Amino acid sequence: MTASKKSLRTCKKGHQYFKSSDCPTCPICEQERKPDDGFLSLLSAPARRALENNEITTLQQLSNYSEKEILQFHGMGPASIPKLRTALHSKGLSFKN
Ligand SMILES: [Zn+2]
Repeated sequence: MTASKKSLRTCKKGHQYFKSSDCPTCPICEQERKPDDGFLSLLSAPARRALENNEITTLQQLSNYSEKEILQFHGMGPASIPKLRTALHSKGLSFKN
């Protein structure tokens, strides 16, 4: 016997998915939510949210932060830093020192 009961849900866009928790996030929407500036799509979902929660959605905004500051964001892992660095360099930008 299992205590966790999954229920079928339908999100605002009509995607159907199973969730056992109270988390209202639709995994399909989550996947489709591709940001304009391609660099955010290079990241894992937690890392992307970490930037978005800090209102960083463009490389220009990202370049206002140092690597240390970015790493302090909740959800951001060290593995994301090289990707971000590469993305910045591709636009002639870099992290703040
Ligand atoms: Zn959805």
